[in-house]
Amino acid sequence: MSENTPQMITCKAAVCWGPEESDVAVEEIQVDPPKSSEIRLKMLCASLCHTDISFCKGFPFPLYPRVPGHEGVGIVESVGDEVKELKKGDMVIPTYIGECQECENCTSGKTNLCLKYPISMSGLMLDSTSRMSIKGQRLYQFFSCSTWSEYTVVNTNYVVKIDPSISPPHASLISCGFSTGFGAAWKIAKVDKGSSVAVFGLGAVGLGATEGARIAGADKIIGVDKNVWKKEKGEALGMTDFINTNDSEKPISQLIKDLTGGLGVDYCFECTGVAAFMDEALLSLKMGKGILIAVGAGYGSKVQISPAPILFGATMKGGIFGGLKVKSDLPAILDKCKNQEFHLDELLTHEVPLADFSKAFELLKQPDCVKIVIKF
Ligand SMILES: [Zn+2]
Ligand SMILES: [Zn+2]
Repeated sequence: MSENTPQMITCKAAVCWGPEESDVAVEEIQVDPPKSSEIRLKMLCASLCHTDISFCKGFPFPLYPRVPGHEGVGIVESVGDEVKELKKGDMVIPTYIGECQECENCTSGKTNLCLKYPISMSGLMLDSTSRMSIKGQRLYQFFSCSTWSEYTVVNTNYVVKIDPSISPPHASLISCGFSTGFGAAWKIAKVDKGSSVAVFGLGAVGLGATEGARIAGADKIIGVDKNVWKKEKGEALGMTDFINTNDSEKPISQLIKDLTGGLGVDYCFECTGVAAFMDEALLSLKMGKGILIAVGAGYGSKVQISPAPILFGATMKGGIFGGLKVKSDLPAILDKCKNQEFHLDELLTHEVPLADFSKAFELLKQPDCVKIVIKF
C-alpha cells in the first residue's frame, strides 16, 4: 500500500436513526476509501430538500440508520484507481440520477431516467454495499449522494464537474431544487415566448420554474402561494402576478381565469404536491392546448381530476429532476449559473453549521424559509 492509498476517514455527518425529527443526530461516522470507479468528496456545503424530509420519515420504505442529503457540492479528495475523468481538487456536484447515453431511455430523447445508472432506492452503492458506517454498523446512504456529511463517496457516473468560480451554495441549489423547477419549464414544458404561465407553490422548485418561464420569455407568470412573503421572492425571479390563496374563497382556477381574460394559462406548474391542487391546476389551463406539469413531491396514492380538460386536449406531464439529463443538460444550466443569469441568492434564506443541524428542521417550517444551506 503506497502512502497515497486513500484511508478510511472519520468525520461528522447527520445520521437519521428513525422517523421522528429528533431521530436525526450529528454523529462521528467512518467513510471508506472510494472503490475503482468512485470518488470521495470533501463537502463544501449541502442543502435541505423536502424529499430528504419525506425519506427521513420513512417514505417510501424505512431505511435506518442512514445519512440523508442529495443536494450539495464538494471537492474531490481521492479517486478510485479506474477514475480517469476526475482528479483530486476538482469541484463536483453529486447527482441522484445518471446518464449513460447508451441505454434505451437515454437514447430515446423522451426521458432522463437512465436504465444503467438509475436512482438508487436501496440506500447502497451500485455494488450493493455502503461506504459509510458508524462504530462498525453499516449506514444506508441516500440515493447516490448522502451529502449531509463532511465526506461522502459517490460513483463517477453520478457526478457533474463544475467550474470552481460558481459559489458553493449556488452549486448546491443547482443539484436538485432549483434545477427541478427550471428544467420543468425548459425541458418538460418547453415554455414558449409570449405565453402565460401559472406556478403553484413558490418554494425552490416553483421559483426555479418561475425563473425558467421568465428566461423562456413568458409574458404572464402567475405565482400561487398561501404565504404572502413569497410574493417578493416570486417577483424577484420574474413573476408578474400573485395569487394569495388565503385572500379569496374562489377556486384558484377561477382566480387564474380572472387574471387571463377568462382564457386560462398555456402552462401550469404544480409544485406543491398537494393532491387537491392537481385538478385546480388542470382547470386553470387554456382549453384544448394547455399543459399541466406536475413536479410536486408527495401527492400520496391518488389524485382526482376532472376529465373534461383532458378530453378537450389538455396535456398532463411530469418528470423527475425537471426532465434534465445530467450530462447533456446540466452544463447549460451551470453556464447560466456561472454567468449570474439566475437569482439564486433569493432562494438562500438560511444557513446552519452541521453541528447545529437540529435547528434546520425548525427553520424549514418558518414562513420566510426557502432554502437552508448546511455549512461544513
Ligand atoms: Zn431534492
Ligand atoms: Zn442510460
